[in-house]
Formats: sequence, C-alpha cells, structure tokens
Amino acid sequence: MAVILVTGGAGYVGSHACKALAAAGHEPVCFDSYRTGWREAVRYGPAVEGNLLDAASVREAIARFAPAAVMHFAALSLVGESVRDPGLYWRANLTGALNLLEAMREEGVGALVFSSTAAVYGACDAALIPEDAPLRPDSPYGSCKLAIERLIADFERFHGLRAGVFRYFNVAGADPEGEIGEDHRPETHLIPIMLEAALGRRPEIVVYGDDYPTEDGTCVRDYVHASDLARAHVLGVERLLAGGEGFTANLGAGRGLSVREVIERAGEVVGRPVPHRVGPRRPGDPARLVCDPSRARQILGWRAERSDIDAILRDAWAWMRRGGYGA
Ligand code: UDP
Repeated sequence: MAVILVTGGAGYVGSHACKALAAAGHEPVCFDSYRTGWREAVRYGPAVEGNLLDAASVREAIARFAPAAVMHFAALSLVGESVRDPGLYWRANLTGALNLLEAMREEGVGALVFSSTAAVYGACDAALIPEDAPLRPDSPYGSCKLAIERLIADFERFHGLRAGVFRYFNVAGADPEGEIGEDHRPETHLIPIMLEAALGRRPEIVVYGDDYPTEDGTCVRDYVHASDLARAHVLGVERLLAGGEGFTANLGAGRGLSVREVIERAGEVVGRPVPHRVGPRRPGDPARLVCDPSRARQILGWRAERSDIDAILRDAWAWMRRGGYGA
C-alpha cells in the first residue's frame, strides 16, 4: 500500500486514477482547486483543496501526507482554448508543474507519473505513432506539455527524480460502475457533446472540417477508455515504487476512427441519430493521431481492454443520462 498524491484528482482522468489506485490497495490523496474538478468526484481517500500556482499549498500537502509518489493531472487541457490564449496555458501548466516538482524535491518525493498528451507529436505521417516520432506540437497545449516533459527530464537527470510520462490519445468513456465520468462545463470534447446532441440538450454538433487528407475527410483519432488509462497509471506508479526505471509511453487503443465514424457508431449505440453539420476546421487539430501502444505493453504489460468504441460510447451514455455531477 502506498500513499499517492494525485493533483487534479477531482477531474476526469484524475478521478478514474484515484479509483484505480484504491482498487489496487493504495491510498490516493486528491489535490485539486475545484476550478474544473468536482467535489463529488472525490470518492476514494482524503482531499486537499489547493492550487498548484500557490507553491506553498502544494508543498504543505506533500509535507502533510508524505506520499511515496505523485500523479500529476492538474492542468488546462483544451487545444482550442490554448490556441486562443497561449499565455494562459504556459503560465498555468508550466508554473504548476514547476511548483510541484520543486515541492517534491524539497520534501524528498522521488517518483512522478505525468499526464502528457499525443498533442506533443502534432501532425505525424506515421500510421501508428511511436514514442520516438518527431515532436512538433501544433498547439500551445501540446507545446507546454512538451516543455514540461523536458523540465521533468532535467529533474530526472540532475535531481534523481524517476518519472513515468504517459502520452494520452483521446480519453473517453466513464467508469463502468457509473460512479465517476466526464463533466466539463462548457463541454468541448467530441464524444460527450455528440451524446448531448443525441439527448436533445444541444441542437447539433459541428464537424470541424471534412477536407482533411483522411479517408472520409474528417479527423482521425484514437479513443481510449478512461478506466483503461487509469489502470496504466497504477501499473506505471507501481513500477516506479518497485525501483523500476522511468519511461515515456503512449496510451491509446492503437486504432483510428474518423469523426464521421464516431458519429455513426454513437447513433447505433444510443438508438437515435446524432444531428450534425460540417463546419470549418478548428485551428490546432492535426488530421490524424493514432497510437502505437506497444511500448506500454512491453514495459507495463498494459493493453486497452475496454476501449472498443461501442463500450466507450455505452459507458459515456449511461453516465450522461444520469446527468453527470450535480444532477
Ligand atoms: N470535433 C468535432 N466537433 C466538435 C468537437 C470535436 O469535429 O464539436 C473533432 C475534433 O476536430 C477532433 C476530434 O473531434 O478531430 C476530437 O476532438 P476533441 O476535442 O474531443 O479532442 P482532442 O482531439 O482535441 O483532444
């Protein structure tokens, strides 16, 4: 059993990680500002309200709970918003990570699992993107995650930190037991807004461009279930706690679906069509991002088990029909 501090533990991916940690016998301690996280999402272990931009608050939390490792999820995470306001993203995400790393060092915490993103690759010609693909982010969101990866690498090299970096593809779905799920307000992610349109909570969705160089012209993404992702984090932190080396690994299902394909599957799964129309491209969106997940399998024995698109859609749909948080 290990105590793990989880920044952003009240958020979408962080709350799934807390549940998976508890299921594996660990104690997650949630550190969250509740700016976008939900108090109701904290169901496992204690919680501390704090903001990574306030260096003292994170240091106090680490001193109080003496975690064996940290999982760092807390960040602004919208590609579109980052394009509109790059400074906001650089300040919040980079400063937050730096404050966390310095607090960990001061308090002697030597293991970190970091939530990075496939946005660090940007447009990539590879059919399946491996971790050693060129790093050419298309958005400030991707650029600052990449900068944090490099910051972490310096702390590994010069301070002896051991870190596991996970580059997520498109996280979707909800806890199969319905305890936690995705609830961003406003919501911008494809799967929840599509389901909102199917429920009649919004009139339609706009497909961001159908003139990409893909089979049907819409963007292709690799959708991975939040519970699969959470399980990888537990395996990652356990590797570090057992003295294993740091790593960087993609997390995705290893298969791509276009926006049109997802809309079609959603119509089937929920039993009603998703109203949609085609609009202009969204700046910062690469045409195709599909993961080569083999490294996570080799070093952690992880593979996506619930990331079939129908399973993702069914879990997301069940969660949405319950009304999300505050229902
Ligand atoms: N997308 C879309 N309409 C929307 C939201 C998303 O066509 O209203 C597309 C978007 O261009 C991308 C894919 O759906 O290709 C997934 O977008 P999302 O915002 O869910 O995740 P991201 O890929 O930005 O992490």
